[in-house]
Amino acid sequence: MQAEIIAVGTEILLGQITDTNSPLVARLLATLDIDTYYQTVVGDNHERLLSALDIASKRADLIITIGGLGPTPDDLTKQTVAEFVNQALVEDQPALAKIVDYHEQTHRPMSDNNRLQALYMADGEPLLNENGFAVGCFYANPTGPDVLLLPGPPWELEPMLVKHALPVLAEHYQQSGMLLSRVLRFYGIGESRLVTQLARLIDDQTNPTVAPYAKAHEVTLRITAHAQTKDAAIKLIDEMEVEIMAEVGEYFYGYGDDFSLEACVGELLINSNLHITAAESMTAGLFQSTLGKVPGISQVFDGGLVTYSPATKIALLDIKPALIEQHGVVSEATAIAMAQGAKKQLAADIAVSFTGVASGELEGQPAGTVWIGLAFQDEPVEAVVYHFGTERQKNRERAVMAGLDMVRR
Ligand code: ATP
Ligand code: MG
Repeated sequence: MQAEIIAVGTEILLGQITDTNSPLVARLLATLDIDTYYQTVVGDNHERLLSALDIASKRADLIITIGGLGPTPDDLTKQTVAEFVNQALVEDQPALAKIVDYHEQTHRPMSDNNRLQALYMADGEPLLNENGFAVGCFYANPTGPDVLLLPGPPWELEPMLVKHALPVLAEHYQQSGMLLSRVLRFYGIGESRLVTQLARLIDDQTNPTVAPYAKAHEVTLRITAHAQTKDAAIKLIDEMEVEIMAEVGEYFYGYGDDFSLEACVGELLINSNLHITAAESMTAGLFQSTLGKVPGISQVFDGGLVTYSPATKIALLDIKPALIEQHGVVSEATAIAMAQGAKKQLAADIAVSFTGVASGELEGQPAGTVWIGLAFQDEPVEAVVYHFGTERQKNRERAVMAGLDMVRR
């Protein structure tokens, strides 16, 4: 089996974004013994895409296109491929229902363009998009190379490929056995460092494959194995997990596509019945709002405080004005006093405090300087300083993640 990947997108050609999808697709195809012989990039242009398809069809058994499944006029991959393989496009009813539902629920007008996203090739198989509206498609072509259409956004492409496309390919190419994958989640290590540390495992492996993916402020690794039986696949994944953990285990916090750092912390707190609260200055409630995403958190979260100005810190947290005068607002002493105050006011087991510089400069300290305090039962209150970047929102989000991570540890 020889495949050619065609990444469609003018922004890739122009160097505005980097094609991270093609390497991922190639790695995952390898688990099915499908070799990628060529990777092509072509702009959002009907004629040139036809020409790329024509060239690919002469040298590949399977053509995979990436991108251009969306609703806008520059998204023309599906129409062009359908024209190339002489297929009519038909609507996938479940996908269409999802699009209609979304527009009804959000009271947005639905245009004909939105319907386009539900189209797939009449004799092909629609592929579910769990994180978007555009359906993918696999078409087993009796007269030429087979084609697989995947969406451009990586968070749509990866689950579609792993959960829906690969099993279809495995079955079609009569690969016996099964495909299994496991997602590991990491916090506190950047994607580039993780990839560097795991370079050997990521680059050399074909079964299982290890695919990194950067999400907002965290990184996930998907281990995918192909084997004759489920147990054999699990064994391959287990072995790989052990190797990964030996390198970066200290940053690991949980499994699965849908897990999150707040869910991890929420679970810990609920299971041990530890009540949490917070006193937030620079995050202005974002930490508590993030906790609020966790179902069942009300069992351990009674409330907390947003104390933005020095005056509110003094009034609501029982902090001595002299302490703030002496140490400043963005300081270890203030973070500790805030955590202590919040823990006492809410009679909680754990209190987290945030005081820092979201943007600009404060008390001579640059943007991104954040003190996070942690009061836990009767243990001595600790505070840790972080130095994030210059972007206001990112600093606030990173502070929340760091606070969650402190609670988790
Ligand atoms: P949408 O429904 O969002 O329009 P689409 O399937 O039409 O999705 P494109 O319009 O081609 O896909 O790309 C959407 C976005 O997905 C791009 O702006 C880019 O951020 C990302 N993307 C597309 N192709 C790639 C790629 N090969 N590698 C990494 N990211 C990509
Ligand atoms: Mg698009």
